[in-house]
Amino acid sequence: MGNILIVEDDDNIRKLVTVNLSKRGYDVFESGDGNQAMSLFRQKTFDLVLLDLGLPGMSGVDVCIWIRARSDVPIIVLSGMRDEELKVTALDAGADDYITKPFGHEELLARVRAVLRRATPHTSELGREKVQIAGLTIDFETRRVRVGDEDISLTKTEYALLVELANHPDAVVDHNTLLGRVWGPQYRDANHYLHIYLGRVRKKLGVHGDLLETIPGVGYRLQFNKKADS
Ligand code: CA
Repeated sequence: MGNILIVEDDDNIRKLVTVNLSKRGYDVFESGDGNQAMSLFRQKTFDLVLLDLGLPGMSGVDVCIWIRARSDVPIIVLSGMRDEELKVTALDAGADDYITKPFGHEELLARVRAVLRRATPHTSELGREKVQIAGLTIDFETRRVRVGDEDISLTKTEYALLVELANHPDAVVDHNTLLGRVWGPQYRDANHYLHIYLGRVRKKLGVHGDLLETIPGVGYRLQFNKKADS
């Protein structure tokens, strides 16, 4: 079913999550701090990381940055009520989702399932192998995105968003549809996710960032007919 790494210094929470996820068939590996997490991460391949933000020593945000520098494994942040700012920093650093403590186990399971489902590579629904707009190339077969001659590195969530927009050439995809398709049906009202993630994709597209058009209050559009020099 998948290897899950949980990084959490609160023994009770860590054990409870481990027991509950193990019961559902996941292989769970436990770590109480960032150093242990990094050493486990070097030894094994994980399908998902559950990451507490308030850790002793190395912070959860730094662990997130460290993981993102070497892997696009999905990361769900476990954040305390008071970690509001940290949570946004973690999402900015490449986390895919967050859940606020205390959380119910069904809620956590739903997030885990949604993120793992999202992690499966998306393909073009239009039957194309690639899309090329101005200097931007999305290659659906190899999952590579290039700006000019350079490969850019997108997380799975960022890539899924871009593909979802590319599947609707020049059409506005509304907030609900994007959230439902990329994050899952229970996220339909979470508009702030789009703001954060599309902002990041736009930044990574560099000079072609403006191909991603925001339609305020409605949704987003990937402009297929934009010329390279316009
Ligand atoms: Ca903690």
